Amino acid sequence: MTDSTPAANPIQEIDVLWINAGLSCDGDTIAMTAATQPSIEDLIFGNLPWIPKVNFHNLFLAYENGDEFLERFHRAAQGKLAPFILVVEGSVPDETNKDEGYWASFGTDRQTGQPISTCDWIDSLAPQAWAVIAAGTCATYGGIHAMEGNPTGCMGLADYLGWKWKSQAGIPIVCVPGCPVQPDNFMETLLYLLHMAPGRAPAIPLDEALRPTWLFGQTVHEGCDRGGYYEQAEFAGEYGSRTCIVKLGCWGPVVQCNVGKRGWMGGIGGCPNVGGICIGCTMPGFPDKFMPFMNQPPGSLLSSKAVMTYGRAIHALRRFTQASLNQEPSWRGRGNP
Ligand code: SF4
Ligand code: SF4
Ligand code: SF4
Repeated sequence: MTDSTPAANPIQEIDVLWINAGLSCDGDTIAMTAATQPSIEDLIFGNLPWIPKVNFHNLFLAYENGDEFLERFHRAAQGKLAPFILVVEGSVPDETNKDEGYWASFGTDRQTGQPISTCDWIDSLAPQAWAVIAAGTCATYGGIHAMEGNPTGCMGLADYLGWKWKSQAGIPIVCVPGCPVQPDNFMETLLYLLHMAPGRAPAIPLDEALRPTWLFGQTVHEGCDRGGYYEQAEFAGEYGSRTCIVKLGCWGPVVQCNVGKRGWMGGIGGCPNVGGICIGCTMPGFPDKFMPFMNQPPGSLLSSKAVMTYGRAIHALRRFTQASLNQEPSWRGRGNP
């Protein structure tokens, strides 16, 4: 926990510098276009009260390109642009594990014409940033690209900078995992930091994996709309069922993620709610510890067996009660007292 910037010196304007040039599919940037709480438009058009003016720079969403787009990044790296929030998307490769070439880059060096590696950008920007956010599971914990046996040696930002790393303002790396990140989870986290900047919010609460606690404090299972079927031991044997899909490979009971409650876009969707097994994409152990994806999680064998005895008996009793409740009381109707 850290203190936010003192209200005596409030930040009135801030740049968001978003680098999507880690090992990335750009899915987190694309997901952001679906955010509504708030939307990117809300931020950049100044529709939200009590936060600084925001200058938002993301390659996909920018009108500028080439050197013109990179200008602010160069100025920030030289310490000539402050304050700014650095957002990193994609996993960070190990550029030291080979003799030549590079794994990931962002723009070219004006003098040499050579690519500037993503690691060089992180090395120069992170120490100058007011706060650093890792967007998506690749940037937070390595994600898909960091699977065992990958040649890049890639990792998440906390593994690269250090789990105890803090920004100039004393803020730890803020991790918003998800593959891709749930759009409103990211934008809400950014909004929290934008309230912290002028001293209007306390330090952002983060768990041991550096995730915002209010977003990742519950399991998928605790917010899943199939939870009632689980409790009654109604388990689907194939897709297309409305019942619980734990036997098809859902890891929801142990995975910290809020999409069951929040949905995906505008409150609609959210993996198990719409029939997709939870594969644990918000967890540091993803993907290796959740594979093979389509198998029933080993831990759920015991719990689903345990719930079978109770759930089936309770379900039968509920059907009995339900049948009675579907009958009007005996005194209603003509001729009855
Ligand atoms: Fe793409 Fe998923 Fe990695 Fe984001 S976390 S860059 S969506 S693979
Ligand atoms: Fe839990 Fe998954 Fe079943 Fe939902 S579908 S109730 S998250 S096991
Ligand atoms: Fe990822 Fe599971 Fe959350 Fe879906 S429900 S976003 S698979 S953690």
